[in-house]
Amino acid sequence: MGLMTSEQYIESIRAMKRNVYFMGQKIENTVDHPVLRPSMNCIIETYEMAQMPEFEDLMTAESHLIHEKVNRFSHIDMTKEDLMKKVQMQRLVGRRTGMCYQRCVTMDGGNSLYSTTYEIDQKYGTHYHENFVNWFKRVQKEDLYVCVGITDPKGDRSKSPVDQADPDLFLHVVERRPDGVVINGAKLHLTSCVNAHEIFVMPTMSLKPGAEDYAISAAIPMDDPGITLIIDHNSCDLRKIHSKEMDLGNAKYGGIEAVCVFDHVFVPNERIFLNGETEFAGILVDRFATYHRNSYGGCKPGTGDVLIGACSLLSEYIGTNKAAHIKDKLVEMTHLNETLWACGVASSAAGYQMPAGNWMIDPMLANICKLNVTRFPYEICHLAEEIAGGLLVTMPSQADFENPETGPYLRKFLQGANGVSAEDKVRALRLIETMTRGAGAVGYLTESMHGAGSPAAQKINIARYADLSGKQECAKRLANIK
Ligand SMILES: Cc1cc2nc3c(=O)[nH]c(=O)nc-3n(C[C@H](O)[C@H](O)[C@H](O)COP(=O)(O)OP(=O)(O)OC[C@H]3O[C@@H](n4cnc5c(N)ncnc54)[C@H](O)[C@@H]3O)c2cc1C
Repeated sequence: MGLMTSEQYIESIRAMKRNVYFMGQKIENTVDHPVLRPSMNCIIETYEMAQMPEFEDLMTAESHLIHEKVNRFSHIDMTKEDLMKKVQMQRLVGRRTGMCYQRCVTMDGGNSLYSTTYEIDQKYGTHYHENFVNWFKRVQKEDLYVCVGITDPKGDRSKSPVDQADPDLFLHVVERRPDGVVINGAKLHLTSCVNAHEIFVMPTMSLKPGAEDYAISAAIPMDDPGITLIIDHNSCDLRKIHSKEMDLGNAKYGGIEAVCVFDHVFVPNERIFLNGETEFAGILVDRFATYHRNSYGGCKPGTGDVLIGACSLLSEYIGTNKAAHIKDKLVEMTHLNETLWACGVASSAAGYQMPAGNWMIDPMLANICKLNVTRFPYEICHLAEEIAGGLLVTMPSQADFENPETGPYLRKFLQGANGVSAEDKVRALRLIETMTRGAGAVGYLTESMHGAGSPAAQKINIARYADLSGKQECAKRLANIK
């Protein structure tokens, strides 16, 4: 079939019958829902950009599996150049959506499964790699969007999956049949799953022998009758219903997460990629996390570009752009943003080839990248808020601009410098508002903190790769310590 057009993608999701709930209501039509559609628009953007000749080099790649052009979001990275183009594409798309565009998990999950299934088969003579490759060929051929379910509810975090009061707090196998398995549980925070054709699940952490039922990775169609999606209700999302376009800041694009419940979902054998090999659970999730932490070095700088641009624009609109401290703040924001980018690029550039043949991101640099991402966007938002001034949180609505009684007052008293209209000034401020504290902050801030793992997870990995004994040897040699 080749690359899908955005219209084909929209209709393919519309045709799927799923159990989706939002604010207590079952939603039959997710595609045209005002709160859900901006999230879908991000995915649509990835389909549209892949059709644009000017973006073809970054947005598409030649698949070694099906020997056709595929969307890079569902590409297996077979060269170091692929790893570089991955982050370059991510910055490009982030600059266009101004928020998390939600499709990166397909390539991050796909690449981690490609190498891990190969290694499990090498050790146990299983057929997971064949299963994965056959399924992923379909993903590429039909240009499907696949979301990734990793984060279990976890209940009591001090206890392992098998020690939880309720066994369903980690996704697990409840029945084994000759033709497949039945799974129960839930995955939380699932980005854009309402816009996905399929989901692949994998364990959220390392597992010990005895937890075989929890060592499960598989692909499941989103319209499986056993799956229920309960959409999140996050800050400012109802503005998409109650407010007008100007008040949204970024009216076209948005994000959606959800609780995804698996209630006795049957998975046939050919869709299973890990089933009981506990020692590979940690390897798989660690690889996913490494690819995904590298991704943040592409997407967040792209989003940061939009925020820096909005602040620069606003400073011109209010006549502060020549002030030394404002220029300094814009430089500082750029420095932080480019540092994130440097780590994204570096972790791609230092990548290496896996036994399966695909290329892996450098894990140390990916963890450094992500740890910076848990901090720098917050500092960038701090600086943005200082540049913006108090109107950031005290702006009247578009409806007040349209009211004949209040509109003339607002246009007079909120006007900008050098004839800049009050509306343009408020539009720049609304964009900053949505990215720093509104619906966009879900992706730019909290996702930066916890997505791909909370900061403590990155520190564990940095400690693992820190090679302190190697560094001690350097010190001992110079200090002449025998
Ligand atoms: C916007 C957004 C989008 C996301 N998208 C996806 C997605 O598409 N797919 C997906 O699978 N996941 C997704 N995630 C989930 C993300 O990976 C998790 O949020 C992250 O792994 C942290 O898990 P948690 O939210 O359960 O936090 P918690 O586990 O509740 O952590 C809270 C705090 O407790 C600490 N903590 C947790 N466990 C322990 C422990 N055993 N010992 C000591 N300290 C502990 C953590 O370090 C953290 O500081 C997303 C998250 C966000 C915010």
